[in-house]
Amino acid sequence: MAKTVAFFGLGNMGGPMAANLVKAGFQVRAFDLVPASVQQAVKDGCVAAATEKAAVEGADFIISMLPDGAIAERLYIDGAGLLDLVNPAALVIDCSTIAAASSRRIGSEGKKRNIRVVDAPVSGGVAGAQAATLAFMCGGAAADVEAAREVLKHMGANIFHAGESGAGQIAKICNNMLLAIHMIGTAEALQLGVDNGLDPKTLSSIMLKSSGCNWSLEKYNPYPGVMDNVPASRAYQGGFMVKLMQKDLGLAMGAALASHSSTPMGALANNLYNLYSHLGGDDNTGLDFSSIQRLFDAGV
Ligand code: NAD
Repeated sequence: MAKTVAFFGLGNMGGPMAANLVKAGFQVRAFDLVPASVQQAVKDGCVAAATEKAAVEGADFIISMLPDGAIAERLYIDGAGLLDLVNPAALVIDCSTIAAASSRRIGSEGKKRNIRVVDAPVSGGVAGAQAATLAFMCGGAAADVEAAREVLKHMGANIFHAGESGAGQIAKICNNMLLAIHMIGTAEALQLGVDNGLDPKTLSSIMLKSSGCNWSLEKYNPYPGVMDNVPASRAYQGGFMVKLMQKDLGLAMGAALASHSSTPMGALANNLYNLYSHLGGDDNTGLDFSSIQRLFDAGV
């Protein structure tokens, strides 16, 4: 018999993730506060659940893909109280990007009730969710992460066990903080070259074969016209929005504060994205994060 998944949060990410589980043969019950998201999920083969309780009743897996930690804590503990409603044998997998402290709280409240909980934030964006190529960074007991593979493998290409509860969130914010730093550094270097008469394509091809090579330069060049099929070549539409990078940098700063870690480059990246987000009165939060290139030359 097909195993049942209760899926909460069928937005830009959760919608295609749930659709991939349907394709893999799971019976997926969809719950979202936005009717249009549920309607799309039903078109993709999910069954609409009228209430949180109806969604989780007897379900083998509970998966959530929610906007923030307060919402996740309300869903699992303080509001709908899913942890008190789920089948005791169910495995809870929260894929939302939230503070590690929120994930740890959901994990420890699960433990008190003998419910297994894994935090599994993702990298790969909407395109990765659609293509089932996401990277999952998991926190929780090794056996629980192993058990989560049964569903995660149908939504992603790489599944990592980062450590105990909350470790998936820490891995995710370390990665995205570094991504912001090398994106800004790449944009800055490209602008310096252009301001001094270099062609950005030529400069990029030199740095690609030199020690400045990095993922932003190689896969996601922020300078318009250097690469095809990246947001810089379509007026920074699509991709990974500035507001999502601001969220992840904010989570990184919160974690650094809690652990007394020094993150001067991360703090600068956080400040530059905040400055850029409303530069000159424009709302840049919906543009791709590589549009930070525009901070260095208002003419780009
Ligand atoms: P989204 O806003 O498109 O989707 C979130 C969905 O959750 C919405 O449909 C919303 O109605 C629903 N929701 C809110 N409260 C709910 C509740 N109590 N019960 C059920 N559903 C509820 O956001 P998204 O882009 O899909 O992002 C989801 C998560 O994935 C975020 O934590 C984000 O940081 C992370 N993430 C996003 C991307 C990306 O590129 N979009 C990439 C990696 C990680």
